[in-house]
Amino acid sequence: MIAQQPYAKDIALLSKELHTEPQRGLTGEEAEKLLEQHGQNAIQSEKQKSIGAMLLQQFMSPMVLLLVVAAGLSFFFQEWLNGTAILAVIVINALIGFYMEFHANRSMNALRQLASLSGKVIRDGNLQEIPSEFIVPGDVLFVEAGDMILADARIFQSMQLEVDEAALTGESIPVTKDEAVLEGDVPLADRVNMLFKGTYVTKGNAKAVVTGTGMSTELGKIASLVQGAEQAATPLEKKLEQFSKKLIRITLVLVVVIFIAGILQGAAWLDVLESSIALAVAAIPEGLPIVATLALAQGMLRMAKHNVVVKKLAAVETLGGTNVICTDKTGTLTQNKIAVNTILIPSGKSEVVYSPDGAVAIPEEVRKSENYQKIVDASVLCNTANLEMREDTLREVGDPLEIGLLKYAITAGRDIQQERERFPKIREAAFTSEAKIMATLHKSGDTYVVFAKGAVEELLQKSTHILLEGQPVAFSDNEKDIWLEQTEQLASEGLKLLAFAYKETSSIEEELTRDLIFTGVLGLLDPPRTEVSQALEECKLAGIKVIMITGDHPATARNIALKLGLTDKEQAPVMHGKEMKDFAKLNDQDKRQWLRTQIFARVTPKQKLDLVTLLQENNCIVGMTGDGVNDAPAIKKADIGISMGIRGTQVAQEVSDMVLKDDSFTSIVVAIKQGRIIFENIKKFVTFLLSCNLSELMVVAIVSVWNVHFSLLPLQILFINLVTDVLPALALGVTKGNDLIMKSKPRKPEAPIIDNQQWRSIFMYAAVITLCVLAAVFVSHYWYHRTEVLQAKLCNNILFFTLVFSQLWHVFNMASAKVGFFKSEVIRNKYVWYALFICSLVVFTAYFFQPFREVLYIQTMGIVDLAISIGFSFLSLVMIQVLKRMRLVV
Ligand code: ATP
Repeated sequence: MIAQQPYAKDIALLSKELHTEPQRGLTGEEAEKLLEQHGQNAIQSEKQKSIGAMLLQQFMSPMVLLLVVAAGLSFFFQEWLNGTAILAVIVINALIGFYMEFHANRSMNALRQLASLSGKVIRDGNLQEIPSEFIVPGDVLFVEAGDMILADARIFQSMQLEVDEAALTGESIPVTKDEAVLEGDVPLADRVNMLFKGTYVTKGNAKAVVTGTGMSTELGKIASLVQGAEQAATPLEKKLEQFSKKLIRITLVLVVVIFIAGILQGAAWLDVLESSIALAVAAIPEGLPIVATLALAQGMLRMAKHNVVVKKLAAVETLGGTNVICTDKTGTLTQNKIAVNTILIPSGKSEVVYSPDGAVAIPEEVRKSENYQKIVDASVLCNTANLEMREDTLREVGDPLEIGLLKYAITAGRDIQQERERFPKIREAAFTSEAKIMATLHKSGDTYVVFAKGAVEELLQKSTHILLEGQPVAFSDNEKDIWLEQTEQLASEGLKLLAFAYKETSSIEEELTRDLIFTGVLGLLDPPRTEVSQALEECKLAGIKVIMITGDHPATARNIALKLGLTDKEQAPVMHGKEMKDFAKLNDQDKRQWLRTQIFARVTPKQKLDLVTLLQENNCIVGMTGDGVNDAPAIKKADIGISMGIRGTQVAQEVSDMVLKDDSFTSIVVAIKQGRIIFENIKKFVTFLLSCNLSELMVVAIVSVWNVHFSLLPLQILFINLVTDVLPALALGVTKGNDLIMKSKPRKPEAPIIDNQQWRSIFMYAAVITLCVLAAVFVSHYWYHRTEVLQAKLCNNILFFTLVFSQLWHVFNMASAKVGFFKSEVIRNKYVWYALFICSLVVFTAYFFQPFREVLYIQTMGIVDLAISIGFSFLSLVMIQVLKRMRLVV
């Protein structure tokens, strides 16, 4: 017999089987034991590579294979030293690669931890929040709108619960769920009394007993099917990979040329073969992809320090190219510290004056009016937030706007708890950003009372009467228009407006948002974040357009935009959500108007999505902020989806590429700056590595074609690549960027890492270095040693050391020519100095330490030859700097 599935079981039986109790949940101790037994609640979508596998992988590249062949040939010809040295190079190379990958992985794991979600469970009878990994079968889960479901669970109590299960079933319409037992064999999509990991709550709330965690959830089963699949490479990694492949091909062609030239000159073919192979390996920047990954991971860690958690590696690259930011207003541009500022009731307008001790002064006639009392009633009752005193600190739970209302009600002398107990809430029509209204039904003695609050125009529409001197009076003809005009005036002063209404009824079934009695309006003040103005200025300089998209009143939106400097026009155009046609019906003129507008107000989540689509169609790389469940599609569609760490729902956080821990707009700008810096850094070390390798190739190719009696040895080239290339390249990868980074236009998304102009520069760099290296030998030979026949070994050493020093100096050429040499970001990068110090130390050791001297074929050089070597290497730096200042290279 097939074991019965949880959906077919009675909850009492299921709880017994899982050794839990729906009301109390597990005890902490039981949960601990179960965690040990079942393991952490995590999906291993990609297998964590073991340390051994990671190490082994370092030896699996075609490069290493070529080196092994070279070592084999050396041993075959009994060149023991050479063979051993090549093997040592293979091992050192692999260790560096391993270290870098290990480090990058560790950074990524640390970031994943930062982005991990927490879940609400009932344990020991208390509702607690715990990291999602620690949820175990038997736990009692509590979920509400906006929450991700973190484990599979059987519902036993639900309130108007709707769940979006598209992630699992592909069905995009939310499914209504309840606790009824199901019978027979029910397919996944119809198991309406179950919650599944990876899906999310769009409405209502529920309690459920966890039946499966981690890989034994339905999501885990799917994940295990695709587990073998490779993790997709980021676009940047792909670009780099293609790039490396191209380079290998070019190098192979060059090697063949050098090989043929060697044979034609009568050298022993095996000798030529061996050195050609080693040369091929040496001329390619092997570490490129891993240095890039490390630079990205490092950048992500740096962003985390600035309150930005980037969840996808690819996002870092996109960030650098972002040219439009669509931001909401409340909390991102403003402080989200909302306080009541103005009261507007039929008898007039009055400002709320707060005394330093927090008390409010309200004119007597206002305080006595029925309208005012009803507004304060609604502020307490039509409100889902809570203020709790715990250990002498006030804990705020809920929407800042509603918290602002509660605080106001307290200062106006109300006892929230008492009032809520006196008028218990029976039903609620929750606030949505589409309806812009919230209403609640309360028991009031033997009858009921409805309180509603919301956007002025919406609530006026739902009201038939207005409360005048304690009596509901039907609205006269143009009275609503007068209210709209008056409130428009308040909004243009930057106040957030909230209208209030009520009605009394004898029926519990009464429709909540119909035939209401309008009582008045509160103007709330949400001060702009002071630091945002500067960030907006930075965006302007960086060629990034900022668009405000808000659910708030157009006049409020414009006022905040003016205060922050987002616009400087008193009458800046604001597009109202109602003016925005369906996307399919937009004509060219509408589209142009949308694209010109910088402030959008009363916008619905669907319109946000449309705007992103239109911007993307017009070649924009869009960053979009959002916090609600309904924002998820727009966040997902944007090139960079941005969610809020403090006020964002879990769903918004889950679908976003980036989470702002402090909710501030400024953090977006910091992230974009970091994105640009990272891309610049990658460009820097790719340019550095390529020009170094190209110079080696040029030197070897020229001396072999030139038919002189000396050349660079393969081991020397490997030494150069391992010492003078990798460390400075790594250091370049963590450069902090210069002030100009946010003063240039965003990069085009399709732009390659290295464009044609950069290629030309790389070629020029390599040519200058080659010229100086060859000139050093030439000068030593014809000027200093003149008559003597110069030894091949000395010539080789001059070549070798001039090349080493040139490449070390070359790091400084990677700084932007637009800033002074000594002020450049490279000079100020302490890691560059560390790298140069270590490299110099190794070169020094190689010069004086006998075993190294032997392997690297080094002899003691005279002081003049050393000076020539250092002098010409320095000349290469000077020449390139001159070319840079003349704008002949970039
Ligand atoms: P943003 O979109 O920038 O976050 P917002 O918070 O003002 O701005 P919404 O949350 O969509 O946007 O709110 C739109 C309007 O709905 C507000 O201007 C206000 O009048 C009303 N409103 C906001 N919160 C509530 C609430 N909790 N209850 C009732 N009405 C509300």
